[in-house]
Amino acid sequence: MRKFNLQIVTPDGLLYEGEVESLLVRTADGDAEFLAGHIDYIAPLGTGRARIKIDGKDKFAAVSGGFVTVSQNYVKLVAITFEFAENIDLERALRAKERAIASLASSKDEKALDIARLKLSRAISRINVCELR
Ligand code: ATP
Repeated sequence: MRKFNLQIVTPDGLLYEGEVESLLVRTADGDAEFLAGHIDYIAPLGTGRARIKIDGKDKFAAVSGGFVTVSQNYVKLVAITFEFAENIDLERALRAKERAIASLASSKDEKALDIARLKLSRAISRINVCELR
């Protein structure tokens, strides 16, 4: 399978750089898959799992926010949060989920509700990705 270069950056710095065979990621419009030779592209990222094929093996991650760009066969993922499955703290995600559910039940303020919804979707995404490791 033809390869392309992938770079993954978060506010914490460079998380990954190397050749991969495919990247599947959740964009604001749904899942998008990138293979070598993809046309130049840009899209905002949603919250969900990513799947990266490296040397024939799938690697999963939880991603939230940011954007993905493709330029001349170089794919860049600039994510607000990105955790490979093996680095996800499941207990933390389960606690975050419970806190978000409690906030949704008790908050009246629209902004607090928006934050709780986002936290809930990130926690659920992390929990789901843990099941893939
Ligand atoms: P929490 O309340 O547990 O902090 P959160 O959804 O508010 O959850 P984020 O703001 O999305 O957390 O992330 C803050 C930082 O912590 C990011 O660097 C993110 O990668 C990391 N992070 C959050 N939850 C986890 C987790 N369950 N396992 C590993 N890293 C996590």
